[in-house]
Amino acid sequence: MQKTKGYAAAAAKAPLGPYAFERRDVGEGDVAIEIKYCGVCHSDIHQARDEWGGSAFPMVPGHEIAGIVTAVGSKVTKFKAGDRVGVGCFVETCGMCPECKKGLEQYCEKGMVFTYNGKEYDGTPTMGGYSDKVVVKEHYVLRMPDNLPLEGCAPLLCAGITLYSPLKHWGAGPGKRVAIVGLGGLGHMGVKIAHALGAEVTVLSQSLKKLADGKRLGADHFYATSDPETFQKLHRTFDLIVNTVSTGIDWNDYTPLLKVDGTMVVVGAPDKPPPPLDVFPLLMGRRSVAGSAIGGIPETQEMLDFCGKHGLTSDVEVIPIQMINEAYERVMKSDVRYRFVIDMLSLSTPADREGDFRKHFETHYGASGKAYEELAPAYEFGFEMAASPKFHGQKFHDVESEIKSAYLGRYPDADWDKNWDALFYGWEKAGGAAGGFGFI
Ligand SMILES: [Zn+2]
Ligand SMILES: [Zn+2]
Repeated sequence: MQKTKGYAAAAAKAPLGPYAFERRDVGEGDVAIEIKYCGVCHSDIHQARDEWGGSAFPMVPGHEIAGIVTAVGSKVTKFKAGDRVGVGCFVETCGMCPECKKGLEQYCEKGMVFTYNGKEYDGTPTMGGYSDKVVVKEHYVLRMPDNLPLEGCAPLLCAGITLYSPLKHWGAGPGKRVAIVGLGGLGHMGVKIAHALGAEVTVLSQSLKKLADGKRLGADHFYATSDPETFQKLHRTFDLIVNTVSTGIDWNDYTPLLKVDGTMVVVGAPDKPPPPLDVFPLLMGRRSVAGSAIGGIPETQEMLDFCGKHGLTSDVEVIPIQMINEAYERVMKSDVRYRFVIDMLSLSTPADREGDFRKHFETHYGASGKAYEELAPAYEFGFEMAASPKFHGQKFHDVESEIKSAYLGRYPDADWDKNWDALFYGWEKAGGAAGGFGFI
């Protein structure tokens, strides 16, 4: 067994905190992955808070995993150490039912084994990506695009495929009018992907607050659903509506916006039942209301390759794991543009981080004449400050004088002017924000 560090919820509604557990050794068909980043999905919160029922604790959430292969079993042929890989929402399926054979593993008859809050077929509880490593069967490991940063790719494993699969299935492309309802973690990927597929894209958002963002992401049109006129104007407009909003909206407002033969696909999992569906708009237009869940392994790989080709990543806010509880609160308030991604370096010890800083020092300070021995503690200090509750979420610029005096308190002989950039690098590594620097 391998010792693993992570963050877990000990019980429903308990805040997440540090948790040590064990992963299995690498079997002949397994891929061992050092997790670099893990996205924060709304369903992590639903499950950590047991809002869907049946949650198992302690729970290490996370199913948007991006990392680097560290070892492979003797029978693994597709991956080798050093490969950039990802793991999404499930880590095992039966492999034999008709859906598995078609590569639609997400609809496996026996049921998917979820990446966390699930049980492998042998009964072992699964633990997710808010951790420093994971061991996964080769078939469920995806190859990440070479040309894109891992942190921006992590959310593709759930948010990306959740939108890509229905857009492909219902034929989003040139000449098709597609509406994306809700511009959050799911919706913003829907806009990017639908636009890249060549469709004419409309965002239906609660207000016009995110209009500029919507246009930047690739939307051709943007309407506020708080404005009743929107629903009159857009009557019989869309071939496809992808609805990413799970609660608080009435589907019956949206079905009349479909053309004849149009489909509204629901992809958000609700925490309470939706209002009853009015049948007449469906009859009077041969319209459909459908659902779609993530995607199978072949389609998820296809989506990652598509994103690589089109340069698509999620818009992310990278955080240290120490900020996860705060991040959950902000997700609940839709206060994130558009996905939190945890940098697993924040789970590391000072000894682990030394290697990271040594590499940075060699590439950035080689000829500067600065001494590694002096800068390494500054880097570590910056990291510790950004990860500490006191400075969570603060901008460096705003707290610089406080940090400077704390630093000089610990290292009275240090030269602030020479050291602060190494300290700032550490600060950024722990997810700290810059603030008023014009040049960063
Ligand atoms: Zn998810
Ligand atoms: Zn199956």
